[in-house]
Amino acid sequence: MTDLTTVPAVTLNNGVRMPQLGFGVYQVPDDETAAAVTTALDAGYRSIDTAAIYGNEQGVGRAIADSSVPRDELFITTKIWNSDQGYDSTLRAFDESLAKLGLEQLDLSLIHWPTPERGLYLDTWRALERLHAEGRVRAIGVSNFEPDHLERLVATSTVVPAVNQVELHPALQNRATIAANERHGIVTEAWSPLAQGAVLGESSVIAIAVRHEATPAQVVLRWHLQQGRVVIPKSVTPSRIAENLDVFGFELAADELAAIDALERDGRTGPHPVEFNVA
Ligand code: NAD
Repeated sequence: MTDLTTVPAVTLNNGVRMPQLGFGVYQVPDDETAAAVTTALDAGYRSIDTAAIYGNEQGVGRAIADSSVPRDELFITTKIWNSDQGYDSTLRAFDESLAKLGLEQLDLSLIHWPTPERGLYLDTWRALERLHAEGRVRAIGVSNFEPDHLERLVATSTVVPAVNQVELHPALQNRATIAANERHGIVTEAWSPLAQGAVLGESSVIAIAVRHEATPAQVVLRWHLQQGRVVIPKSVTPSRIAENLDVFGFELAADELAAIDALERDGRTGPHPVEFNVA
């Protein structure tokens, strides 16, 4: 069975180790989440990515409580939603998430979106810095931050984000953001790593998959992993949950990586971070 010894870990800028492959639960209804997370834990996943806005932190918490996997082998991420941005409201939202998850300490807390027009992400960050200093969360980071949001945050903060979780897949490679992350020692985490399935029918991906006796999803996940990124594919189908973890037995060649690089088409599946300012 796959476990943390076969899923490599990346070392965050504060020394905390994070599994390079985790399980995302966006759009999984709360009453289906515990079963999906249990399937993932049984398959060998140890990192789970949820968010307050997903409405399924309780389902994640039920699966954790029912699991025999020791807490210190798990890596649990959740996110501060836009309407909770601000210093005091972030502290409250963090407590609510922790209570729903049934945890005493979180592994990673992210600001979900910068919502730049609202101008609250620096205050939100101060609250996360405090929670980190108090030991209530092992690492803090951001999500959907563009390079200029990162520069502003880093220039005015004590703690550099450990992670920037952004939309990233062959059709949207977000190269400027990855470069900004690298400048600051921030780990890039890819959300929608499979472009929600939209890149799995590409002929070049299929040809590479056939060559390696792998599936298109496995090929796309390898493309991410070989570039050092963290990925959090989502599925509720047990066979796909297992398939998406079984990606450590083959390696793509440089020309195969380049063929997937060529699929860039500004193919965003979600909103643009600068334009997404809803509370
Ligand atoms: P994804 O790229 O992981 O795609 C998931 C979809 O791809 C599934 O619903 C299924 O239709 C298909 N799929 C999955 N495995 C497959 C396989 N082996 N073969 C064929 N099809 C397969 O998309 P996602 O769920 O949007 O993103 C993954 C995770 O990223 C989310 O669950 C969430 O945790 C996180 N996320 C974060 C943000 C953010 O703003 N920070 C936004 C979106 C998603």
